[in-house]
Amino acid sequence: MKASTPRQRSEVLQRLAAEPLDLLVVGGGIVGSGIARDAAMRGLRTGLVDRYDFAFGTSSRSSRLLHGGLRYLEQGRVGLVREASLEKKVVRHIAPHLAQPLGFVFPAYQRAGRPLWQLRIGVKLYDLLCSGRNFQPSRGFNTRETLGMLPQLSPEGLLGAVRYSDALTNDARLVIDTIRSAALHGADVANRVEFITAERHGDTWVCQLRDHLTATPFMVRTRTIINATGPWAPQIPHSTVKLRLSKGIHLVVERSRLPVGEDAVVITEGKRILFVIPWGERVIVGTTDTDYTARPEDVAVNPEDIAYVLRTVNEAFPSLRLGRADILSSWAGLRALIANPDGTPSDISRAHEIRLNEPGWWDVSGGKLTTYRLMAEQTVDRILRYLGRPKGVCRTAAEPLLPTEADACYSNIVPPDFSRDAVVHYVQHEWALSLTDVFVRRTSWHYYHRDAAAKAEQVATWMAELCGWSDQRRREELAAYHRATEIVASAA
Ligand SMILES: Cc1cc2nc3c(=O)[nH]c(=O)nc-3n(C[C@H](O)[C@H](O)[C@H](O)COP(=O)(O)OP(=O)(O)OC[C@H]3O[C@@H](n4cnc5c(N)ncnc54)[C@H](O)[C@@H]3O)c2cc1C
Repeated sequence: MKASTPRQRSEVLQRLAAEPLDLLVVGGGIVGSGIARDAAMRGLRTGLVDRYDFAFGTSSRSSRLLHGGLRYLEQGRVGLVREASLEKKVVRHIAPHLAQPLGFVFPAYQRAGRPLWQLRIGVKLYDLLCSGRNFQPSRGFNTRETLGMLPQLSPEGLLGAVRYSDALTNDARLVIDTIRSAALHGADVANRVEFITAERHGDTWVCQLRDHLTATPFMVRTRTIINATGPWAPQIPHSTVKLRLSKGIHLVVERSRLPVGEDAVVITEGKRILFVIPWGERVIVGTTDTDYTARPEDVAVNPEDIAYVLRTVNEAFPSLRLGRADILSSWAGLRALIANPDGTPSDISRAHEIRLNEPGWWDVSGGKLTTYRLMAEQTVDRILRYLGRPKGVCRTAAEPLLPTEADACYSNIVPPDFSRDAVVHYVQHEWALSLTDVFVRRTSWHYYHRDAAAKAEQVATWMAELCGWSDQRRREELAAYHRATEIVASAA
């Protein structure tokens, strides 16, 4: 059944306006989509809206890892690591097409503050925290073995390495497939719909929304609201969220220029760690961590970010001499770190928080991609308690995200299928309304293909046929795509 044709979209909006909801989820990133899926599966009449596109925010700009977070062990945050370690296995179970186990080689150097023995203990503990069974068991390597695997690695002061296991995903695809699941379970979902404000009348919230496709305001009535707008959360009326935003960027380069083998490599810069992640014929390198105070929509990679990442990679692999010309594409995202009320970083800044502000209104913030399902389960438990409904059984850890393997045929970690059929699927079944929706978030074609500009022209032509765009609209879509995906205008 087609899920996202213009007719279906207008039916969804009509239903949202006419039939009161149990729950309105504001924000279609991974957190909002996970909550909508769980709520719909537990029988709540659920709506979900996103101001831009699903996965427009941080959830399409991460490192794409399902991970426990080895480095949090250094900080003694065993509970956080255990929670995420179990959840990465859950995602592998419910969405195997979006969770590919991946080894991480972590070299130890004399000059670095992490001795090899400490890394060896750390990765063994890491295995244990996955209920004793990680995707692959960790192991250690001496210097000769390490350089055998990674001949270009700097040998100076190298003590050896460890290898541990996490998984690679496709963040935006995880969001889209979660939203597909929510819709299959009856949630009414719409992108390009902005939450403006809400007022409480008795036990009902009356919300003002705006459909940006038709520039039409409309009202929705709902018992409960979730603010899951990530970096935008403090701007939403009634929100009490205080965040510190931190920018992280990634660069994509040809794998032939950064030959890392089958495993990812952890490289260090002082106490910071960066990942070099194999991704098909490409490699993803990141990330950075710098304070950010401008509008979340405007986050972009700048020349200093690029210089920092290239410098760190070239220190780890000195013979490669990676330069700006090697960069195929890049992205920048914002960590929404929970701050104390005075704005300073909080102890729980990397954990998540579900806060009831007013009756029927929760702010859900922080956390990470890997733990989205658990955040959703905890949130929906609270909503059901508030509504006085039976908690029921949460089935999100057991039931596959998509009903059959065939449903996942256009949902990949590495994009293989550049075809008109795929574009038809994204437009008819996955709410793709613009060229960027398809080319960046449904597929990652923009990040992956060396001839991305020519491929974008082709996709714009297919979408024009499918969506009835005029030639002027087609050209506007291309211009919008180029604006949105420019690496760094000021660094050119
Ligand atoms: C650089 C970086 C690397 C990361 N790497 C990893 C990783 O490898 N693994 C991992 O587990 N986690 C990772 N994370 C963390 C993870 O990406 C985030 O925790 C997660 O994506 C946050 O999702 P979210 O749904 O809270 O926010 P978002 O994805 O930002 O979603 C918020 C949504 O709200 C919408 N919105 C805003 N205002 C409104 C409005 N008024 N009305 C309607 N909708 C609105 C936006 O359009 C957006 O789509 C990383 C984060 C960063 C920044």
